[in-house]
Amino acid sequence: MKISRVGAATAKKLKKLGIATARDLLFYFPFRYDDFSEVTLIRDLRSGARANVVGRIELIQSKRSPRKRMSVTEALVTDGTDVMKVIWFNQPFIARNLRVGDRVSFSGKIEDDYGVFAMKSPAYEKIFKKSPNSPLRQGYGGQVPFVKGENMDAVHTQGLVPNYHLTANITQKQIRFLIKRVIGLSEKINDWLPEETRENVRLLSLGDAIKKIHFPKSQKDIDAAKRRLSFDELFLTQIQSQMIREDAKSCVSAPVPFLEKETKKFVDSLPFKLTDAQRKAAWEILRDMRKDRPMARLLQGDVGSGKTVVACIAMLNAALSGGQALRRGSGQAVLMVPTEILAKQHYDSICKLFNGFDIKIGLVTRSEKKVNYESEIMNKGLKSKKTKKHNSLFIIHNSNIVIGTHALIQENVEFENLVLAIIDEQHRFGVEQRAALARTDARAPHLLSMTATPIPRSLALALYGDLDVSVINETPKGRKKIITRVVPEEKREKAYEFIRGQVKAGRQVFVICPLIDISDKLGVKSVKEEFEKLDKKVFKDLKIGMLHGRLKPKEKDGIMRDFLDNKIKILVSTSVVEVGVDAPNATIMMIEGADRFGLAQLHQFRGRVGRGEHQSYCFLFADSDSEKTLSRLRALVDNNDGFALAKMDLKFRGPGEVYGTAQKGFPEMKIASLFDYELIKSAKEEAEKLIKKDGGLDGYPALKEKLGEWRKKAHLE
Ligand code: ADP
Ligand code: MG
Repeated sequence: MKISRVGAATAKKLKKLGIATARDLLFYFPFRYDDFSEVTLIRDLRSGARANVVGRIELIQSKRSPRKRMSVTEALVTDGTDVMKVIWFNQPFIARNLRVGDRVSFSGKIEDDYGVFAMKSPAYEKIFKKSPNSPLRQGYGGQVPFVKGENMDAVHTQGLVPNYHLTANITQKQIRFLIKRVIGLSEKINDWLPEETRENVRLLSLGDAIKKIHFPKSQKDIDAAKRRLSFDELFLTQIQSQMIREDAKSCVSAPVPFLEKETKKFVDSLPFKLTDAQRKAAWEILRDMRKDRPMARLLQGDVGSGKTVVACIAMLNAALSGGQALRRGSGQAVLMVPTEILAKQHYDSICKLFNGFDIKIGLVTRSEKKVNYESEIMNKGLKSKKTKKHNSLFIIHNSNIVIGTHALIQENVEFENLVLAIIDEQHRFGVEQRAALARTDARAPHLLSMTATPIPRSLALALYGDLDVSVINETPKGRKKIITRVVPEEKREKAYEFIRGQVKAGRQVFVICPLIDISDKLGVKSVKEEFEKLDKKVFKDLKIGMLHGRLKPKEKDGIMRDFLDNKIKILVSTSVVEVGVDAPNATIMMIEGADRFGLAQLHQFRGRVGRGEHQSYCFLFADSDSEKTLSRLRALVDNNDGFALAKMDLKFRGPGEVYGTAQKGFPEMKIASLFDYELIKSAKEEAEKLIKKDGGLDGYPALKEKLGEWRKKAHLE
């Protein structure tokens, strides 16, 4: 389904949102709803209250107010019960948009204007009726007031109105209009969920769910749609788990002996003492790896809890072990991470950590492929600094430890001696990518997934039914609590002064913005705009860097390196630094438009500072100063527990506000479903039933196809 009759300009904007087809539109879910479900008769209005009114324009005109040099547009509106005045300032075009006789839906605050009810600058929308001979056509003439439930077709100011995450100069009105136009196609969507499953769990069909998620009639509609869509994700996860578990039954692995001496040497070489929780987790992992059955373990720990070093202990033992074939005399470990920045950083720090060991380490990303021992090989007798270009094959076949992004699996190079596969920030990867990494024929590598996803252990077990779980529930000693503040706009200058002081003292700063480009329409802070401002005005004398997903990998790299080398003092960035980046010298995390992020995500950002010995700070700036926003953000001030924050996030959001930007990062829909024990349980039971009945899913071609698509879907930036 291609979207027809959409202008090239609109199509381009839609593309920025990842929307190319009508199907994409249908699956572009709203993240919250405005409730306009009550329509008030003008007769019943009360001044001071917000209301939705539907009526007919009796009179409309624009005039210039000479004194204030502004234009004022006034309209008189009636719904048959009384008359109301509507006033707009400096929007003269409205008088061209709305004409006498138009039926319009208004939403706004009611004021008393010398005895007449008035709305100032309300949201408004012309109402298009469903068919030309709808009784409403004649309705007004008979002085019939418009009331709730009538056959009107307003999209923007009636009932529960969807709000979408938009960044590309598209308005809510435009996107709703487009979705409205294709919503009929939802009936044609093939539901891949087996009917029996749908009936057992009492779920909507996919088409119904889509229709209701966009245009709900009630909160019940939203809940039912959400339930169906959340179930999908959980069900696919469970089906996948079941299949992996079936597969694993026949797998054997190379046992990795625990090398006590080397492990001790490594741990002693660290600049810090391991926490008890790190020791325990490392031990659980090493114990699993000694077996000849593949380990399948999830290592869970909040940001900054020190998962990387635990992974290193496992990799050390794997790399120094005999491995499977013993051909090259040692085993291999691979560490897959979701972003190039992170891969690079892990590569650099792991090279340093393993300095005292004879371990060959390689890096494989799309833009860079290299090995740490290259200079040795090259320089033997040659003394030339020339670097050779390696391909993935060379690196994968000649390294004990390979660190990389999904480029590792895309190139389809088989490891010869893989005994341990580690996936960092595992929620960022599709299941298929995880499976691909662990793919081998008869022998399976031990598999360790790492995550900071804040979910309780019991849930993790239910959710990742095929995994054992280790938890690091303790942050390294000596860490100072990060001081978090919600900063009002009038204190901005003060915050900048403070930042200047920190930089003078040698520290560094992150500034996070919600967007890359200036998007004046929404008034959302963008990285480019903020960079300009800080670079040219506020901190003219300091070196400022800019980081976002649209930079070339090489550029990103250079900037990240300059930041880690303390050449760049202030790094303005999008959420790309959210995952994993470790810059212990950075002590300030300043977040613009903080109200646009979920609490759990803000917590991840905050976790980027407070990693060294210095006192760290997190400053939150919000675009809105509503009490609701502020109290939500204040939760971060008092709370330092990622799980508690994620849960709070759900509570703070109103009904329906659970969907995140469709597929970016960690979809909030998934977070929501993570707390739904009942639904998880049902998904698990249903998946078990189905796999028991038809392990190959041959009787369910639609499900099989969906599973394939879903496996391919990567949760990458
Ligand atoms: P995460 O669990 O978020 O991946 P990292 O592994 O990146 O955390 O570790 C965060 C920081 O803490 C790193 O700079 C690391 O060197 C440091 N670190 C790890 N373990 C300890 C420890 N036991 N004591 C002090 N610092 C530690
Ligand atoms: Mg990490």
